[in-house]
Amino acid sequence: MINEHFGTIPPSYLFSEVAQRVRDYQSAHPGARVLRLGIGDVTRPLAPAVVDALHLAVDEQADAESFRGYGPEQGYDFLREAIVAGEYAPLGADIDPAEIFIGDGAKSDTANIQELFAADASVAVADPVYPVYVDSNAMAGRLGDFRDGRWSRLVYLPCDEGNGYRPQLPDGHVDLVYLCSPNNPTGTTLSREDLAEWVAYAREHGAVILFDAAYREFIVDADVPRSIYEIEGAEEVAIEFGSFSKTAGFTGLRCSWTVVPRQLIVDGVSLQAMWSRRQSTKFNGTPYIVQRAAAAIYGAEGREQVRADIDYYLRNAALIRDVLRGRGVDAVGGDNSPYVWFRCPGGLDSWQFFDALLERAQIVGTPGVGFGPAGADHFRLSAFGTHEETLEAVDRLAELIPSLSAAPASAPTAAEAAASDSDTTTES
Ligand SMILES: *Cc1c(COP(=O)(O)O)cnc(C)c1O
Repeated sequence: MINEHFGTIPPSYLFSEVAQRVRDYQSAHPGARVLRLGIGDVTRPLAPAVVDALHLAVDEQADAESFRGYGPEQGYDFLREAIVAGEYAPLGADIDPAEIFIGDGAKSDTANIQELFAADASVAVADPVYPVYVDSNAMAGRLGDFRDGRWSRLVYLPCDEGNGYRPQLPDGHVDLVYLCSPNNPTGTTLSREDLAEWVAYAREHGAVILFDAAYREFIVDADVPRSIYEIEGAEEVAIEFGSFSKTAGFTGLRCSWTVVPRQLIVDGVSLQAMWSRRQSTKFNGTPYIVQRAAAAIYGAEGREQVRADIDYYLRNAALIRDVLRGRGVDAVGGDNSPYVWFRCPGGLDSWQFFDALLERAQIVGTPGVGFGPAGADHFRLSAFGTHEETLEAVDRLAELIPSLSAAPASAPTAAEAAASDSDTTTES
C-alpha cells in the first residue's frame, strides 16, 4: 500500500551527523570558537530594495482596493517579464514569458520535474552533485537498488582532477541528464564548449537536459555561460532552473523560476504544456508579496545591492581557495562560485578530514561523500560565512594544512554513521 521505493533510499545522515559531531566537540571544549565553513545557506540579510518592495506589497494586501488573492499559477506577468528582460534578453536568449514558470524554490522545481517522464526513463547525474536530483528519482522508483553507496540504474558521471571536475558525456543513451553550473558542491562551471557538446548529445539521443543555474549570479567570468540557452538549439532539448535563493538571499522567502521552452517536444508532446498542467494541478503559486520582492532585484538599486552581496561572498571564496592553493592543495571552484572543493590532504577520507579540521582548527566543513560516491575523499568549504570568520578560518587553515600528513583513526564505520539519529539539521 505504501510507496516501496522510499524504503530503498538510505537515510540522509550527512548534515545531522555534522551537527552531532560539532555539538559533541563543543560540549567537550566549551571555550572553543568554532568557525562554520560548512553552510549551504546565505547569511547576508535581504537587500534594502527587496525589503522596500515587500513592505509595499504587504500594504497592498492590507487594502481592499489592491488586495490580491490567488494569483496566476504560472506566476505574475510582472515577474515573468522582469526575468525575461533581466536574465535572458541580455544574453541574447530568445525566451518569452509564457515559457517561464514561477516556483517556490529550485529544490521543489528540480525535484518535481521528473514527474513529466516515464517511470523507466534512464537518468544521468554528475558525481558529486546536489542530492535532490538523485533522491527525487529514487522516490519515483527510477534508480533500481541502492548497494555499496550506488544506485544500480543511475548513470554516474564522475568528476575529478582527471576531467577538471566536469561531467563527461555518457557512453550510451540516457533519457535525462541533470547538469548544474556553477556546480554544488564542486564550484566548477561548464564552458560554452562543454555545454555545446551536451546540447549536441541531447539532440542526437533525444535526451532532455535539466540545467540547474541556481548559482548563475556568481559567474563573473564573461566566457562562462549563465544559461544553457546561450547555446544554439538548447531550447529544443533543455529545461532550466533559476532561483532567487543564492542570488538574492531568498532562502527564507522562497522564489524560483523554471524555463520550459515551447520548442521542447518529446514523443510528440509539449513539455511546456505538461509542466503547465502539472503546476496548475499541484501548485497555487508563490506569494504575491514574494514575487514583488523578487522583481525588485531587477531595478537599478536592487541590482546593485544584490551584486554587492554576491561580491562579498566571492571575496570569501577567493580567500579560501587561495590559502588552499598556496599550501599545495589543488582546490577548484571559488572563482565563479561560493564553494571551494578539493581532495582531502594527507590521504584522508572526507570524514577523517572533517574531524581533523574540527579538532585541530575548529573549522566545520562538509564531507564530500554526502554528494555522491566520487566525493568520498573530497571536501567542500563554503564562502557563505561572514568575512571576519572567513579571515580567521583562513589563518587557521594556513597553519593546519602543512601539518596534515598521517590519517587519524577516527572515521565512523558506515553502520555507526547510519545508526546516528537523523534530525532535521539539513542543508536545502
Ligand atoms: C540551494 C540549491 C538549490 C535550491 O534552491 P531553492 O531555490 O532555495 O530551493 C537548487 N540547486 C542547487 C544546486 C542548490 O545548491
